[in-house]
Amino acid sequence: MENYEKLQKIIDESKNIVFFGGAGVSTESGIKDFRSVDGLYNEKYDYPPEVMLSRTFFDNHPEEFFKFYKDKLNPEGVEPNVTHKYLVKLEDEGKLKAVVTQNIDGLHEKAGSKNVLLLHGTTYINHCMNCGKEYGAQDVFNSKGIPRCSCGGIIKPDVVLYEEPLNDITVGKAVKAISECDTLIVAGTSLVVYPAAMYVRYFNGKHLVIINRSETQYDDIAELVIHDSLGNIFSKLK
Ligand SMILES: [Zn+2]
Repeated sequence: MENYEKLQKIIDESKNIVFFGGAGVSTESGIKDFRSVDGLYNEKYDYPPEVMLSRTFFDNHPEEFFKFYKDKLNPEGVEPNVTHKYLVKLEDEGKLKAVVTQNIDGLHEKAGSKNVLLLHGTTYINHCMNCGKEYGAQDVFNSKGIPRCSCGGIIKPDVVLYEEPLNDITVGKAVKAISECDTLIVAGTSLVVYPAAMYVRYFNGKHLVIINRSETQYDDIAELVIHDSLGNIFSKLK
């Protein structure tokens, strides 16, 4: 039996699936992964991305922060891929209960997923740091220099920057969904970076599936491990 057939069998048997996705889900839509070999790390900037996307950098060098942010993280024109779309179908059928994602590009929502738990926030929601007024993605990406509210305050993306804590409510929902599901599909993440790795430990269900191009530290405990591109697998599922 091929790997995708094994995954199909697991999905057919499952009633409560949670999908936990990392950067690999988005890279197939053309979004760059910060940590992959051909990701942003290898590009020429004065600082590495984890410095430029830190709260300290945002506070001390907002102009450079927004230059980098607008240059690299604009989701305009990027479309959901076969993996995003398959997850919408599973949710519509009542099998998939939640998508837990580390991605900030809004592609799951754009595809039509409803219960998306955004661990690292989203570029689609932005708030004035002074008055709290909400702004959309392009209010920031199309701004010149530092995006400013009509009140003069800086508009800050609802993206969890390095050094910032994750949202407790979102984390709580993710942990609850994972601890209650019968099947957890972990995809497109090497599970190296904390806290991604932590979430797998809350899984109590029956089928743990890992789909990633390279090995992960949890491969040994998973029922099904697939080292392949996500598109290759999800395009074959019914
Ligand atoms: Zn304001």
